[in-house]
Amino acid sequence: MIPRHSANTVQAMRPVGSFVAATLAELKQHATAGVTLLELDALAHQRITEAGAQSCYIDYHPSFGASPFGKVLCTSVNDAALHGLPHDYTLVNGDLLSLDFAVTLKGWVADSALTLVVGGNPTPSDTKLIDTCEKALRAGIAQARSGNRLGDISHAIGQVSRAAGYAVNTDFGGHGVGRTMHEDPSIPNDGEPGRGPKLKPGMVFAIEPWLMETTADVYTDEDGWTLKSVDGSRSAHVEHTVVITEGEPLVLTARD
Ligand code: MG
Repeated sequence: MIPRHSANTVQAMRPVGSFVAATLAELKQHATAGVTLLELDALAHQRITEAGAQSCYIDYHPSFGASPFGKVLCTSVNDAALHGLPHDYTLVNGDLLSLDFAVTLKGWVADSALTLVVGGNPTPSDTKLIDTCEKALRAGIAQARSGNRLGDISHAIGQVSRAAGYAVNTDFGGHGVGRTMHEDPSIPNDGEPGRGPKLKPGMVFAIEPWLMETTADVYTDEDGWTLKSVDGSRSAHVEHTVVITEGEPLVLTARD
């Protein structure tokens, strides 16, 4: 059963979407050479405290995690794809960094991610990886419409990814969002169009394509959390929290 939220509830979700968007935009500006992942996490933590929000990550302890996450920001660098546990690493120019951030504010969750190249000046392969993720996200959001089916979102993401020559991992992907970070349904990053539950107004989804350059397989780092590409290839990840409406999809975490 996929929860549906009233128009009033969707209005109540807007502040958390804006907060997540603004914090990610600020973190992106701070992610420069010489800054450590722990400093980025500390900045995110400070903003959470100031806003009276709660981290969705700090106590997060699913079956696949070795222990509670303990930080408020996922920082995945280079061959780290997802769930990057912040540690005492100092960023250098050229690092490919994904930031994933989810909080609760006034009882509602928003979840969003972006990928950047530290210092700008990305290589052509990093540019292609990031651009493909962003294009896949736009394609997935474009299918997040009343009357479509869940598989239409998955298929759109998968098609963009495969057309660019990337293999798709369907073990970790998007999800419903509401009072908690992970709600029904799960939204794999590839699938069959026209399949799955019908999309209806008031459903709220985190849509999150992620890609690795030359593999679809990950392993868990010895920190117990960070998922890395098995072949050492680099990874990108982007995400928005999106509401199905009567018309155009509403992106709660838009950074514009
Ligand atoms: Mg996320």
